[in-house]
Amino acid sequence: LSIPTEQEAAEAARAAENASEARAALAGGRLRTAPAVITDDPGPHPLVEFRDVGFRYFGGPPVLSGTSFTVPRGSRTAVVGPSGGGKSTILALIARFYEPGSGTIRVDGQDIREMSHESLRARLSMVEQDAPVFAGSLRENLRLGAPDASEDALRSALRDVELGALLDHPDGLDRDLGDAGVVLSGGQRQRLAWARALLHDHELLLLDEPTSSVDAETEWSLQRLLSSCGIGTTTVMVAHRLATVVDSDQIIVLDGGGVAAVGTHESLLRDSPLYRTLAAYQGLVDDRTDPVRGLAAEP
Ligand code: ADP
Ligand code: MG
Repeated sequence: LSIPTEQEAAEAARAAENASEARAALAGGRLRTAPAVITDDPGPHPLVEFRDVGFRYFGGPPVLSGTSFTVPRGSRTAVVGPSGGGKSTILALIARFYEPGSGTIRVDGQDIREMSHESLRARLSMVEQDAPVFAGSLRENLRLGAPDASEDALRSALRDVELGALLDHPDGLDRDLGDAGVVLSGGQRQRLAWARALLHDHELLLLDEPTSSVDAETEWSLQRLLSSCGIGTTTVMVAHRLATVVDSDQIIVLDGGGVAAVGTHESLLRDSPLYRTLAAYQGLVDDRTDPVRGLAAEP
C-alpha cells in the first residue's frame, strides 16, 4: 500500500465522515420526516439487486468485485462467508453509507444513487454489529426509531428481544442509559438496537448477526426475533453462525470479493464446497454423513 497524498487523505476522511453521519441518521429521528413507502403491489423487481458491484475502502484493496445477486421481496436472505469477506460492507452499501466504485445497486428497481437518502433510509431498518446506545433514557433510545410508538409497543419490543428484565428496574422506561452506572453488555446493546429496528416501520430489515463471543452470554434466540418481525418483511442478514440461517429462503456465499454460490442450506451443502467446509467447521454436518469427507476422497 502506498502512502496517501494529502488530497487522498482528505477524501478518505470525508468518506468516513459521510458514513458516520449516515449511520446516525439511520438510527435517529431525522429519518421520520419521510414516511416508509410500503407498496402492496409486488412489482416486477426484486427488492434489492447488486449488479457487478465493485468496492474498496479508500486506499484499501478491493473488497467486492463484480458482485451480483438479487434479494426477492419477502425473502429471508442470508449472507455468509469467511471473515473479512465483505459481508458487513454489503449491508453498508445497501444503506448507502458508501458509494460503490463500479456497478449498480437497485432497491425496488431504482438505482439508489437516484433516490434521496431520506426515502431510501425510511424504507429500511438496520442493525450493525457494533450497535451504539445513545445518551438518554431507555424510552428515548427505543423511540429513536419510532417517535410515536405507544408505551405498550416499547415494552413488547423489549420482551421480543429478551430485554424484558430491564423493565424490572424501578425507573423502568425512564431509566437513564447515559448514566455511568448502567453498563449494558455488547449483546444487550445489540438487542436494544434490534428492538429499535423492530419498532421502526420498515420494508427491509438489514441485520448483522452478533459474533458468537457477544452472543454466547445469552440464551437469545435470533429465530424468535425474525419470527416477530412479521411475514412479508424482507430480511438480509449477515450470519457468522450457519446454524442461524439453515431456514433462510436464500443463502448467498461470498468469497474472494464475489458471490461463490447462492442457494438454500440443502442445495449449498450439495453444490458448494466452500459452504460445506464452513458447515463442517461449525459442526453442522454429521460426522458419518459429512459430505466434506466425500469431497476429500475424490481425486
Ligand atoms: P465481513 O463482515 O465479511 O467480516 P467486512 O465487510 O467487515 O467483512 O470487511 C471487508 C474488508 O474491508 C476487510 O478487509 C476489512 O478489514 C475492510 N474494512 C471494513 N470496514 C472498513 C473501513 N471502514 N475502512 C477500511 N477498511 C474496512
Ligand atoms: Mg462483519
